[in-house]
Amino acid sequence: METLILGAGLAGLSTAYFLQQQGEEGITLLEKEERPGGLCRSIRKNGYIYDIGPHILFAKDKEMLGLMLSVLEKKNDLRRSNQIIHKGRWVQYPFENDLSKLPADDLKYCINAFENNPYENYEATNMLQFFLKTFGEGITNCYLRPYNEKIWKYDPAFMNTSMVDRIPKPAKEEIRRSAAGETVDGYVHQLYFSYPSAGGIEAVPNGFLKLLDPAKSRVLTGRKVAKVQKAGDGFIVSCENGEQYAAKRLISTIPVQELTAAYAEATDEVKEHVAGLRYNSIAVAFVKVCCDKCGDNFAFMIADKNIIFHRISKMDFLGQAYHHGTEATYMAEVTYREGDGISLMKEEELAAKIKEGLIAINFAEKEEDIEIIDISRHEYAYVIYDLAHGENMRAIRRFYEKEKVFLNGRFGNFEYWNMDRILRESLTLTQRLTSLRGSEL
Ligand SMILES: Cc1cc2nc3c(=O)[nH]c(=O)nc-3n(C[C@H](O)[C@H](O)[C@H](O)COP(=O)(O)OP(=O)(O)OC[C@H]3O[C@@H](n4cnc5c(N)ncnc54)[C@H](O)[C@@H]3O)c2cc1C
Repeated sequence: METLILGAGLAGLSTAYFLQQQGEEGITLLEKEERPGGLCRSIRKNGYIYDIGPHILFAKDKEMLGLMLSVLEKKNDLRRSNQIIHKGRWVQYPFENDLSKLPADDLKYCINAFENNPYENYEATNMLQFFLKTFGEGITNCYLRPYNEKIWKYDPAFMNTSMVDRIPKPAKEEIRRSAAGETVDGYVHQLYFSYPSAGGIEAVPNGFLKLLDPAKSRVLTGRKVAKVQKAGDGFIVSCENGEQYAAKRLISTIPVQELTAAYAEATDEVKEHVAGLRYNSIAVAFVKVCCDKCGDNFAFMIADKNIIFHRISKMDFLGQAYHHGTEATYMAEVTYREGDGISLMKEEELAAKIKEGLIAINFAEKEEDIEIIDISRHEYAYVIYDLAHGENMRAIRRFYEKEKVFLNGRFGNFEYWNMDRILRESLTLTQRLTSLRGSEL
């Protein structure tokens, strides 16, 4: 059956791959950028390569992780070494597992509030309540609340618990040991991870691209979807360049906002729900500093709002191919939303703030030690689970299900999905579609 897939990020590419695996052909992917890969693209500049924020390969879903790793020519296996910078001190991530590194007052506040937690037995109905209930007021106010406010640019009291309710309650014994001086490994499912030995994270979508048989699947880039119309029992998709494509089956992995803007029969009701969805954009600065001051560590989280980036990750940590002499190269991430102060900042101002931040965290001594190699901005980066997310997405899904448009992907389905989940959802969708073949479709 002829299939059109909108978007050729990991969701689009893996959907095409699984359809092909199930014996399908006549698959066309329409991608607006000149290169497929979406958020998993890697950016090349002046002989360097960096990702749209650090992308590492780890997963609870071992089958999908195995598939991702199998498409790589070569990979590096690494052990997480992440720090939180709190009042100039390095506290090993996750915060609650290294409390003894805190200044004495904060240590006392965190451990006392954890041991005597009045919120422990309430049911948490939002993210902030979850933090207070699970970790107590001290850990919440010293780190979790300011860091989450910084990355989400949203008050955690107005976010639901979708992001956090998988976080296990830390064992009392572990927190006591961490307060007494022991650094305890936490979140062990992310302790070990892999990364492509060369080519950046884009090696993953490229791996899937290579598995597509050109006789069965074609990936057309530079095709921005502008209009989607129903035609008989199928669809006609028009691109900005004037080309039109028709197919009986339509799968959309482009942001649901983009789909709805293009969808000729979108109702006012669905448009209203789409307008209610909240998301963050990201600016990623790729930065070179003359000397390495952060040792054998990968990512640093910074909750302090005087520093513009919330996370900085060392590209060199990921393997020899990403290493350049004695210098250190970092990805600094800054989230924003359209209309806020950061979205309105000119690139020079953003660059100056990033340099200021690097000096403030002692990664560089002076401005001249720092070179901003590139700054790239990406509109759709993080889904925000605000309190209305569930209701909005239920209504949106109902609408597109009735239209027989299949939604997939991080922004296509508007869920905070990582790469393994994207693959799992693509597999599930294609299995459903092939079982429907000839009946509902
Ligand atoms: C900062 C950051 C860090 C991350 N780190 C990790 C990590 O460490 N590990 C992990 O597993 N996952 C990570 N992820 C998640 C991972 O990037 C996503 O799960 C995955 O890339 C989503 O793929 P997708 O195809 O659903 O979406 P996208 O990659 O967004 O693909 C959508 C595609 O649609 C195209 N498109 C949009 N509009 C149109 C249009 N009108 N017409 C045609 N095409 C269009 C886009 O150009 C894009 O190629 C991270 C994400 C971010 C933002």
